[in-house]
Amino acid sequence: MLAPSSGAPAQMRINLGSSGVRFASLGSGSRGNGTLVQMNGQLVLVDCGFTLKDVRARLARLGVEPGQLDALLVTHEHSDHARGIPALARHCGAPTYLSYGTARALRDWDGFELRPFDSHSSFEIGGVNVTPVSVPHDAREPTQFVFDATLAGAPRRIGVLTDLGHVTRHVVDCYQGCHGLLMESNHDLDMLWRGRYPAALKRRIAGMQGHLANAQALEFLDAVCHEDLQHVLVGHISEENNCPRLIGELYQDVSASVGNLELATQALGSDWVEIT
Ligand SMILES: [Zn+2]
Ligand SMILES: [Zn+2]
Repeated sequence: MLAPSSGAPAQMRINLGSSGVRFASLGSGSRGNGTLVQMNGQLVLVDCGFTLKDVRARLARLGVEPGQLDALLVTHEHSDHARGIPALARHCGAPTYLSYGTARALRDWDGFELRPFDSHSSFEIGGVNVTPVSVPHDAREPTQFVFDATLAGAPRRIGVLTDLGHVTRHVVDCYQGCHGLLMESNHDLDMLWRGRYPAALKRRIAGMQGHLANAQALEFLDAVCHEDLQHVLVGHISEENNCPRLIGELYQDVSASVGNLELATQALGSDWVEIT
């Protein structure tokens, strides 16, 4: 049964010397996002849409201190992804990777190290290969990310994919072969159109550069599903225009072919997800 992750307190500080592959959501939704990815002894945080006090508490729940972060990555400049980056980057000292377009859109960038990347080229962070994936979304130069490393000699891939208006061929190609995946399933289209948002905002969310509807997300998952897709976190779920029961019903068929499928919540994110 599809259920929100329990968000139970982590018992121990994570062992960064381990070669484990895992990921976790610090929280996911329009009020703030952050996704931890650990591979090859590196710990990176994708996005920080939380205040420094809040992100410290969310990291602590997963047994992480800010000083353990090796890198911050930013998908795009929208505040639910980037508002907490400057304060966290200054606090933890880790470099911040982002596309040139996102860097230009960020206003507050003094006092921490920016490492802009070409959004069409992979780069490396401590032996982890990072592939930026260009997505259709109404930001300056938005990219999502695919991470590749090896675990005991076997290739392992984690994908993070939120904030895209529609599924492109390029996106489907880039996310093939993931062992772990955090993906957006933002809204139910009927709930959105019948809901109380202003018409312009509804058109923006449903538009080609807005967010993925449940049905689109399901099509994407169907297109990238394979027998070793071990764990899927469904995130960036609208609290206004979606509901966990609907997602559960919609994903019922495909969830049988994914090892585990659960929801990353706004309040608690998820527990650590271990990839074997
Ligand atoms: Zn967002
Ligand atoms: Zn966005």
